[in-house]
Formats: sequence, C-alpha cells, structure tokens
Amino acid sequence: MNNSDMYYKAGLDYLTGLSNRWGLHDYYGSLGLGKTIHAMYIDVDNFKRVNDVYGHSMGDELLVAISNLITTYTEGFAARIGGDEYVVLLDGDWSRKHVTGIAQELLGNMQSMDFRKDVLSLISLSIGIVFGQKTDMPLDDILYKCDAAMYKAKNDGKNRYAFFQALDESIRLKKSIETEMEDALREGQFVVYLQPKINMVSSELYGAEALCRWIHPQDGLRSPALFIPIFEKNGFISKLDFYIYEQTCKLKASWKGTPFEHLPISVNMSRLHLYNKMLPFELADIADEYGIPYEELEIEITESVFIKDSEELVKMVAALKKQGFMVSIDDFGAGFSALNLLKDLPVDTIKLDKEFLQGSADDIRGKKVLKNIISLCKDLKLEVVVEGIETKPQIDFVTSCGCRIAQGFFYAKPLPLHEFEDFATEYSKNKLESYVFRFNGSLRSEDGSLEGEYNGTDLLFEKGITPDSRALYLPGGEAEENVVILPNNAIVNDSYTIAMWIKPKELHSWGAALYVKFETGFAAMVPLAWEGVSDFRIRDSRNINGWYDVSGCPAREGLWCHFTVSYNAKTETAISFINGEVVGVMENVPVNRYVNRIMLGGDIFQPSFSGNICEVVIFNEAKDYQSVKELFTSYVERPGFSHA
Ligand code: C2E
Ligand code: CA
Ligand code: CA
Repeated sequence: MNNSDMYYKAGLDYLTGLSNRWGLHDYYGSLGLGKTIHAMYIDVDNFKRVNDVYGHSMGDELLVAISNLITTYTEGFAARIGGDEYVVLLDGDWSRKHVTGIAQELLGNMQSMDFRKDVLSLISLSIGIVFGQKTDMPLDDILYKCDAAMYKAKNDGKNRYAFFQALDESIRLKKSIETEMEDALREGQFVVYLQPKINMVSSELYGAEALCRWIHPQDGLRSPALFIPIFEKNGFISKLDFYIYEQTCKLKASWKGTPFEHLPISVNMSRLHLYNKMLPFELADIADEYGIPYEELEIEITESVFIKDSEELVKMVAALKKQGFMVSIDDFGAGFSALNLLKDLPVDTIKLDKEFLQGSADDIRGKKVLKNIISLCKDLKLEVVVEGIETKPQIDFVTSCGCRIAQGFFYAKPLPLHEFEDFATEYSKNKLESYVFRFNGSLRSEDGSLEGEYNGTDLLFEKGITPDSRALYLPGGEAEENVVILPNNAIVNDSYTIAMWIKPKELHSWGAALYVKFETGFAAMVPLAWEGVSDFRIRDSRNINGWYDVSGCPAREGLWCHFTVSYNAKTETAISFINGEVVGVMENVPVNRYVNRIMLGGDIFQPSFSGNICEVVIFNEAKDYQSVKELFTSYVERPGFSHA
C-alpha cells in the first residue's frame, strides 16, 4: 500500500521515513467508519542498551533498519510513534493466522537482518497484536489495547508476540496499577519488606535491603517486578522511593534499644533521581526527622544507568557520600558494567547481580570472571555483596573468592517486618563472639564453648596477675613443642583484637607468644623481635614483599606485661599495644583469611615461649585505643594486682 499522497509532510518521521503519530492518526481518520482493521504494536527490547553502549547514531541506524524490516514483512501502514516503538495497521480482511504469520516473520528475521551482529545480539522485538477492531472506535483505544498486549509479551520474557484478547486480566492489572497508585500510597498499601544481608563467614547479620511490596486490598501481595517498571515509565517511582525511604527511617527509629538498632539498611533509588541535585539534602532532612545517622542508611543505585549520564552519576554519588550516606552500585554485572567507572565512583559497596552468580555456576570462565571482579573490588577497597545466593556450593565458591557478604534465598527471602525482626533476633545471637581464656587451671574458654589443647607433657598452672588467679606455665622448647593449640573458630572475622598477659622467663628474639596461620599468610605476636623491640608481624604470602612489622617497646623478663594487637580489615590498619598504650601502628596491611591454626606460646620455626600466659582474650572485631585501655585498667584495678 502506498499512502504517500494521503498524509501531510508533517506526518512523517524524519528518521525512518515512516509516518509519525500524527500521520498515523490522519491515516486512521481517512479509513472512514465501519471498517475492520488489526493493529500491531512493536517495541524494541533493550534498545536503550544499544544507545548506551554504541551511541545514538548506531541507535538511529538500527531504528532505520528495523523500520525497513517492518515495511518488508508487514504490508501494512507503518508508523514510528515513539523512540523505539512502531505501530502497524493491517488489512481487516486478513485471517488471524495470517496476522500471526506476520508477527512470526518479524521475530524470525530480526536476527538475520543486514546489521552488525553484535548489536543484533542485544536486541529483540516484543509485539502486541489486537485483532478485528472496528474503525468506529477512537484510534487511541486500539493503540491502548495493542500496547497492553505488547506489555504482556515483554512481561512473558520478550522476543515474542501476544494477542490482546486473552489478556483481559493483565490489562486490567496494568490499568488498575496506574489508576490506583496514588490512592494506594495514601492508604499505606505500599509496605517495606526487608531482606537480610549476611556475613557468610561469621553467620552474622550484616544489614538489610528495603524492598517494596504492594499489599492490594483485592489482589493481595503484588511484586515490584510488576509495578516498578510501570512507575519508572510514568514517574511515580520518585514518590514511591521517597516513601519507602521514609518508612525505612521510621522503622529504624522504632528499633531504638533493640539489638539491631544500628543495623544498616539499604534503600533503592531509581535513576530518575540522578538529576535532582537536592536529593542528598532531602534524604538528610528525612533522616534527621527520625534521628537516624546517615551512615546507617545506604543508597542503592542500579548499574545500568552507569554508562550514560556517567558524569551526573559520579556527581550524585559524591554528593551522597559528602552528606555521609553509604552508597552502593546495584545489579553490577547484569548489563555492561563500566569497570572503568569504578575508579571514579566513591561508592562503598558493589552488589553483584544474581544473574552473574547463577550464570557462572558451572562455567569455569564465568567463575574466573567472578573471582577477578571480586578481587578487583577488594583492591579498590569496595565491599562486595553477592546477590541471589541460593545454595551452599555457591557460598563455598564466593567465599573462596574472598567475598563475605551475601543476600539471597539461602538465608532468607525479603521478609515482612515482624518476620524480619524474628530473624534478626535469632541472628543477633550470632553476634561475633569474643573468647576469654583465663588459664585458671584449665584450657577452656570462660563460656565453656572452646577448649585449647596442650602440645607437650605436664601441663602446669602458676600464680597469675593477682594472688588468687592462676596462669599457664610454658617451659619453652623446640618449635611447636609445649604450646597450646586453640580452636580455629576462635577467630571468625577478618578484623580481630587479641590481648593477653605474658610474663616471660627468658626472651629469645623472634620467639612468638601467639602465632595464627591463615590460608593467605600469618600473624604473630612477638614479645621481643630484635634489640629492644616487640613486634606484631603480619605476613601476606600472596605477595613476595608482603611483610608488615608493627613494632614497639618489648616485654620484659620476669614482669607481667599486657600485650595486645588489633587488625581492622575495613581500614586495613594493624595496631600494637603494650600495657594499654599504643606502641605501633601500620596502615595498608592486607586482610588475611581462613584460619588454619592458632598456636599460643610459639610458632612453627622458633623455639617456644618460656614463661607465663593468662587472660588471653580474642575479640572478633578491631578494638580502639579506648577499649584496650579500659581492658588493661580493669585488670590493674583488681585487688592485689602486681606486674611482678
Ligand atoms: P533488586 O534491588 O536487585 O532486589 C533484589 C531482588 O532479588 C529482590 O526482588 C529479591 O527478592 C530478589 N532475590 C533476592 N535473593 C534472591 C535469590 O536468592 N534468588 C532469586 N531468584 N532472587 C532473589 P524483588 O523484591 O522482587 O525486587 C525486584 C526489583 O524491584 C529490585 O531488584 C529493585 O530493582 C526493584 N525495587 C524493589 N523495591 C523498590 C523500591 O522501593 N524502589 C525502587 N526504585 N526499586 C525497587
Ligand atoms: Ca537493590
Ligand atoms: Ca540487585
């Protein structure tokens, strides 16, 4: 059909030469009443990606190529009515089978089109069809129906067609979503569900993500996959995001006094907010209203927005960070991750998309990619959260790559508030333990849960730091002789603090009081390293030059000395303390992981420690100066305490 005479020049689409929306209306008007037509709504799946990755001129070329495909296979009146949306009106005499054939042909010939294959591989078509419409009704009604059918095709997985008829239900749904959303917001039908983030190594609750659910009075629970895309299209998402954020603040305020009062919660912010320069201040105002510290709130921004608008994004992230919020990149790896942008983005966390994990499950190359992405993030000092953890083998794999934090069904689905609180209560029992070994006549920890093992003969206890306390006596000996092996699970966290009282009988240089062998290196507490110097030595065996010595004044023979070392994995700082005072600090000390062995009173090379040890405390966190000082003071204030 050649209709070039029937529409005005202004009704043409400049790019493809097809009609535009006005041309389509004109054509429809020219058909007159009482005719029958069929309509097809064609949308290009993932078109935005092509623009993002290859630029707009490639996008334009693609649109022209698709318009040629459409004119070749449809023999109808074709128009481009939006960026990547086409409508074709088809002859009313054609059978349903014929119309279906056209849709199939479009889908089938899409990939073999004369166009760059790498571009084609990104895209497909979603086609909505409405059959046998009378021209008596307004064109917009017909378009609405085939648009709804197209939406169904997209929802069913893209690269397919769907007919309007069979989908009354899903149309009703889409329509009701748009007409009801404002009321639903006012009436509190949108609620926050929380999905826990777990430290896989220590089984500790690390945080949670706030995810929106729509509790509809008739339909019950509606998933965000259903309504978020619609809200992103019509802009309502901006309101909803703020609402969910405020609910989250309210919720955190209600936790005052509970064990999860300070639990960090992340909230999703749609890309629509990127251009709102006031966002950080608006978020801060709301947090202030509920008295929530900014650093306990994390803003998740989706990765797919990163390539386009990257400048805006860097600015926004910087502004959020400046305001004091935590920021994470969501769905990293789902699309075309801009690795290069990572260096410019001052974010705290990368959330690896669940498809990344699920896609690389039994694929060696995929695993290598995952492993290296994790190690790149670590190098850039970014926390990594793996999404979509569903199985134990997945946990084993990602933890072996050095990732600790997971969010996934294996631990919990997004939970309604009360279920989350139960979950959090249960998990807060997994709070990182600290262990005290007093050596008051046994090798058991104070809580009775762990017990050391003596690698020698004749276990002896002597007088401790007060007249009524006792201490382990170690006679010294060859390497690994007369030492106490503590259970590996005394240290379950990357950060730790180890404190102990030691009274050396005779000091040998480099003899260790405590030695922890990790999969990736070791850490040793050395009361006397070289002349007049104690040492907290950390070795990173992944690196030839990975030696770190935090040195300070030494312990003295015959005197009780409180020796403490701490390592903070977040700041990568190692500190050594003697008698409650900082004696040495070192920064940029890499994390060691996976404890293989904890040896008290020696190491695997040097002669063993000879003298007394008591009050060994292992904290699974980095203690600061104040706490170490307090700990020291608490001993010194015991009745009868003496260094001698
Ligand atoms: P998301 O931010 O990537 O959230 C994680 C999604 O993965 C959630 O889906 C969660 O239920 C799902 N998930 C978590 N663990 C697993 C797992 O082990 N296996 C599988 N198969 N899935 C898992 P949900 O809650 O349906 O949310 C879907 C998306 O909707 C979210 O993806 C987010 O992009 C968006 N969304 C949800 N609430 C909001 C909101 O308040 N604002 C904005 N802007 N977007 C939201
Ligand atoms: Ca998210
Ligand atoms: Ca995500």
